[in-house]
Amino acid sequence: MAVIYDRVALIGLGLIASSMFWAMKRAGAVGEITGYARSAETRDTAREIGLCDRVCDSARAAAEGADLVVLAVPVGAMEAVIRDIAPVLKPGATVTDVGSVKRQVIEAVGPHLPEGVHFVPAHPLAGTEHSGPRSGFATLFDNRYCLLTPVEGADAEATDRLMRLWQAIGANVETMDPDHHDLVLSVTSHTPHLIAYTMVGVADDLSRVTDSEVIKYSAAGFRDFTRIAASDPTMWRDVFLNNKEATLEILGRFTEELFALQRAIRTGDGDLLFDYFTRTREIRRGIIEAGQDTDAPDFGRSKSGS
Ligand code: NAP
Repeated sequence: MAVIYDRVALIGLGLIASSMFWAMKRAGAVGEITGYARSAETRDTAREIGLCDRVCDSARAAAEGADLVVLAVPVGAMEAVIRDIAPVLKPGATVTDVGSVKRQVIEAVGPHLPEGVHFVPAHPLAGTEHSGPRSGFATLFDNRYCLLTPVEGADAEATDRLMRLWQAIGANVETMDPDHHDLVLSVTSHTPHLIAYTMVGVADDLSRVTDSEVIKYSAAGFRDFTRIAASDPTMWRDVFLNNKEATLEILGRFTEELFALQRAIRTGDGDLLFDYFTRTREIRRGIIEAGQDTDAPDFGRSKSGS
């Protein structure tokens, strides 16, 4: 495959960056890949497992001279990182991010970009509940969507090039307005995570059911919640703090529906429950038909996307 970028810098070396690294190597899509992580421990691990061609001890050293700089840190850390590396960014380079929220990242990063450096925000809709430099794998993005949310006036060539990189590492790429992205993801990812965190928290708080019973008798529904609720606390704290409006809107709708179902249970309205569950079953079928999950009985408990 033709090389898309001669030099790529990965800032942050967790699940997403490490998966990008292995996928870029698999595709032969880029030249040298440099990397930086905040802690010496993560940098040492990266060196030990051969994650990145060159692991640098500062974000600036990793970003200097790169044609593409990928910000793969929690959403709340993006601004500090771009402030730090802005002085060494190469004219004509592209900066992208992989944050789960787009509007806030655009507002945090945009103002610090030097003249002549392009910014193309992105969000791969793929992940697992694992984090850190050892958690990545080359197939994470295969047949998953990656949404690019270019801002008004974005450079078409820079956007197209980044799109080609994501395609080369397995993703289906689409573009979307950043605010619409935040609303869609609030429905499909952010609010479901909050609900999972809550359900696991409720089980933990319920004194009449012991922790050991919860673990021992955990049934499919609860087990799937615990998998989601095991996701990285820093990442998810930042997602909710930075996608406030959409999350609160969807949570409001969720609460209304929950009350309606609660009422149906109390009044014995079986028809309402049956019709509701029939409708939701169709959504599940649609996801499987679109190839975004399998209907294997253990769905979601293997390495699949979020
Ligand atoms: P991760 O595995 O937890 O890795 C995060 C990386 O960022 C680590 O290398 C960490 O360094 C570094 N970091 C953390 N705080 C930092 C700070 N204040 N300054 C500099 N570096 C810092 O995270 P991830 O799952 O790859 O997520 C990275 C980004 O991808 C997030 O913005 C997230 O919203 C987005 N995303 C995640 C998923 C998912 O399912 N996980 C899916 C799509 C998008 P140390 O190891 O040294 O602490």
